[in-house]
Amino acid sequence: MDAVRTAKRLGAEHAIIAYRRTEDEMPCRRAELHHAKAEGVEVLPLVSPLEFVAGEDGSVCAVKVQKMELGEPDESGRRRPVPIEGAIEEIPCDVAISAIGTNANPFAAKIGGKMELNKWGYIVADEETGQTTDPRIWAGGDIVTGAATVILAMGAGKKAAASITKSLLGE
Ligand SMILES: Cc1cc2nc3c(=O)[nH]c(=O)nc-3n(C[C@H](O)[C@H](O)[C@H](O)COP(=O)(O)OP(=O)(O)OC[C@H]3O[C@@H](n4cnc5c(N)ncnc54)[C@H](O)[C@@H]3O)c2cc1C
Repeated sequence: MDAVRTAKRLGAEHAIIAYRRTEDEMPCRRAELHHAKAEGVEVLPLVSPLEFVAGEDGSVCAVKVQKMELGEPDESGRRRPVPIEGAIEEIPCDVAISAIGTNANPFAAKIGGKMELNKWGYIVADEETGQTTDPRIWAGGDIVTGAATVILAMGAGKKAAASITKSLLGE
């Protein structure tokens, strides 16, 4: 939602959300969808991206999509998108953004030392102090919790600052 609305505000003639289910199954706040559409964002339901198509200069010029229909509900309770055989089309575009989630920054793995990472590549840190398993390093925010919120990241920063101060003062 943020990516598509930002694209629109930056002047995109058409800013389109290509989504494999319908608006009813979208895992977003209804208000968010309403505001996006009010801003001029278009929703293209029941399509799943297959590939980015390169133009003559090598830049993306279209997204090839598989058309879908709704089947039975899956474990999330939402109706499962099922591909319609042979129904493939191309949406012309200048920019394609995959806005489908986040991963740990691989930089964390390169810091080294005794700092432990969990199986998803996020840094293991003490919940109260932010200190990592390498006593010289503190961490906080998304790189510890995974994708979360600004408030949690700011809180982690404050806790870590207090803990670093104590450590430097030898307390
Ligand atoms: C699209 C989107 C919408 C969101 N909307 C909300 C919202 O409405 N409300 C909310 O509370 N949260 C929202 N979040 C989550 C929020 O943005 C994050 O939880 C928060 O920014 C985490 O803060 P952070 O300081 O841990 O990490 P970040 O804000 O990601 O900061 C990490 C910083 O490290 C820098 N960096 C990375 N690698 C290196 C390197 N090798 N060397 C030096 N610097 C480096 C990055 O450039 C970045 O500035 C949203 C996130 C996204 C992606």
